Amino acid sequence: MKTAIITGAARGIGLATTDLLLATGWQVAMIDRDSEALAAAVSSRTNVHGIDCDVSEESSVNSMVDETLRHFGRIDGLVNNAGVADFGPIAETDFVRWKTVMETNLDGVFLCTQAATPALKESKGAIVNIASISGLRASTLRVAYGTSKAAVIQLTLQQAAELGEFGIRANTVCPGPVRTKLAMAVHTQDIIDAYHDAIPLNRYGSENEIGEVIAFLLSEKASYVTGQTIAADGGFEATGVGLP
Ligand code: NAD
Repeated sequence: MKTAIITGAARGIGLATTDLLLATGWQVAMIDRDSEALAAAVSSRTNVHGIDCDVSEESSVNSMVDETLRHFGRIDGLVNNAGVADFGPIAETDFVRWKTVMETNLDGVFLCTQAATPALKESKGAIVNIASISGLRASTLRVAYGTSKAAVIQLTLQQAAELGEFGIRANTVCPGPVRTKLAMAVHTQDIIDAYHDAIPLNRYGSENEIGEVIAFLLSEKASYVTGQTIAADGGFEATGVGLP
């Protein structure tokens, strides 16, 4: 059975992706640092193994990959989905806030990729990194978040270029707005209204609509797709309108 590691799997997009993969025959190592939410999510699912891990901590990530291999014996897919959001302009983003965002959103992707690469080489596996439309455009509110996500897009290109010779594919998904805990903590009513107006489909996306794209990119159906950045955003990116 194919095995995927999904970080940030306790809720939101990571949890929806877990369920979509389970439904298509994968087994999933569900990774999160929110132990309580993770235990609840794991308890109602089969073919999963929950592992408490903070993706910004190198030793935690290395133990998580070891534990995944001990439990499942292989890694065919890595979904670097765990993320945090903190919106603010340059003047108000102190260095601690900046580093907190970078440590999870960027360092976490690097550490998980590095730790999982030997197993991904064996399986000729696939990596999907979750960035954001905030990594494609500048805005006055997203100096740390947007920069971290733009860096994830570049890191995906590096992965595709370097790991392709081992049969490993790497792609980025850039979700538009989805009503998860992460988004609703930073989306004011003004931002919500502006997104509804700016998005051609005039609505937020769902966790499943993002998960379906991730599942496709992990699957054999995408066997010749690597190094791509795919926005699942209701058409927002196509319009050229600024981020609210
Ligand atoms: P969410 O808050 O529902 O889920 C994020 C999960 O990541 C949580 O369970 C959290 O505990 C976990 N997490 C955070 N930091 C972690 C760490 N250091 N180690 C381990 N786990 C950690 O949020 P979501 O919206 O589902 O976010 C998933 C991804 O999608 C994120 O990378 C986010 O930036 C991206 N994204 C979300 C939106 C949106 O509108 N929701 C838009 C674009 C991109």
